[in-house]
Amino acid sequence: MIPSFDKLRAGLRGSVVTPGDADYDEARAVYNAMIDRRPAAIARCSDATDVVTCVEFARAEGLTVSVRGGGHNAGGLGVWDDALVIDLSQMRDITVDPATATVTVQGGATWREVDEAAGPHGLTVPCGIIGSTGVAGLTLGGGIGYLARQAGLTIDNLLGADVVLADGSQVRASADEHPDLFWALRGGGGNFGVVTAFTFRAQPVSAILGGPVLYPLSATGDVLRWYRTTLPSLPRHINGWFGVLTIPAGPPFPEELWGVKACGIVWCCTLEGGAAQEALAPLRAFGTPLLDGVMEMPMAALNTAFDALYPPGLQMYWRADFIGEITDKAIAVHEKHGPLLPTPLSTMHMYPIDGAVHDAAQTDTAFAYRSAGWAAVFVGIDPDPATADNLRDWAVAYQEELHPTALPGAYINFMMDEGQDRVQASYGPNFARLQQLKATYDPTNFFHVNQNIKPLGSST
Ligand SMILES: Cc1cc2nc3c(=O)[nH]c(=O)nc-3n(C[C@H](O)[C@H](O)[C@H](O)COP(=O)(O)OP(=O)(O)OC[C@H]3O[C@@H](n4cnc5c(N)ncnc54)[C@H](O)[C@@H]3O)c2cc1C
Repeated sequence: MIPSFDKLRAGLRGSVVTPGDADYDEARAVYNAMIDRRPAAIARCSDATDVVTCVEFARAEGLTVSVRGGGHNAGGLGVWDDALVIDLSQMRDITVDPATATVTVQGGATWREVDEAAGPHGLTVPCGIIGSTGVAGLTLGGGIGYLARQAGLTIDNLLGADVVLADGSQVRASADEHPDLFWALRGGGGNFGVVTAFTFRAQPVSAILGGPVLYPLSATGDVLRWYRTTLPSLPRHINGWFGVLTIPAGPPFPEELWGVKACGIVWCCTLEGGAAQEALAPLRAFGTPLLDGVMEMPMAALNTAFDALYPPGLQMYWRADFIGEITDKAIAVHEKHGPLLPTPLSTMHMYPIDGAVHDAAQTDTAFAYRSAGWAAVFVGIDPDPATADNLRDWAVAYQEELHPTALPGAYINFMMDEGQDRVQASYGPNFARLQQLKATYDPTNFFHVNQNIKPLGSST
């Protein structure tokens, strides 16, 4: 039975939105418009005390909770039918300490806001490739982006987190305090509590040389055969992810390329000035590109370069895999499914899991695929809900045909609902320890709206 939320309303500094309120539809909407869930209430928390109040209220009323950071998750795991949504979107404060190169971020902030706060100090926290993504969800899953080869995953730059646990208590997790929880948070997703604030080590990166070099789709095989050996051999200050895509029909792209299907690499080099030009020159000289969009820009500009192309409100269907090696068989699959891109926004990306990501051992953090080569994502995207079946069919067919060449697990932040076996496979040898820690920190699986790790000994 849905309880009255009057008591919760009275106990919060923030607000509670329920069905019938004018802003209910806005409050329940998430980034992926394919998700259409109807929570019992959305509690827009103002601070950690509000989060504690929500946890205690939900426990007392026997309500399912979902936790919303940036609301970006493809599977829409920030919202759930009939649940109390603990919505952190009002908690977005960011404090930069240039003296220690640390950045403290509340649990509802987005990466664009972190870039805007840290950039003027010449600092960047390693993040993903879209600025509207939530800091919380991306970090808790691992965090893969342009600085991964140089500085590791986002979790490799996490120094501590303030967490509200399932029993309503508040703890700090770091290398010195609750180190087992800190281990679990670095890759274990939203399973262990609500993170109200993160403290990151920032990297001294502000300007980069980067952008896309695009080739005809017919060159996919040649580009991939070159890329699979070249990328791992490069110094760590160079990163480059591979993708298949349709060139957007609008400026700054030349009109003759609008709507042309292509493959390419988005490069990022953090060396300064002439040294960066020199480092990227041989890579840009490969093959016969359709377009070379590499230029000097602030790191923040590259981190948000795709935001306008992928605004909130699009239909999205996601599949994912970790790739060990890009085999000849895999290249044949890319050559087959790239030309079948179902809509102009649909895309396949492979992000390097390389360089500094390999410095940590597989069991050092919950994120288990340290020795993978790439994290691949297959995303069918379109504004029109009528295309939903085509988006899904293309992403599923592509991923399923490539999967025999891939590793068993996938990056949990790139999955929608691929089932419990895939979640377990994605944690590899870390799964058993995660289940033990889940039993310690959340024995009733109170936080289960996520890529769920069930407590050891429980079937719920
Ligand atoms: C267009 C697009 C581009 C992306 N690019 C990248 C990329 O480059 N690199 C990368 O690594 N990932 C990328 N992602 C994936 C992204 O990391 C995940 O979607 C992530 O879940 C988003 O986090 P969020 O806070 O916005 O999500 P939400 O939808 O708010 O939440 C996602 C999950 O995290 C949990 N959660 C959220 N906030 C908290 C919190 N404060 N405490 C505890 N649990 C919480 C939720 O319960 C839920 O299970 C991308 C996603 C999209 C849609």
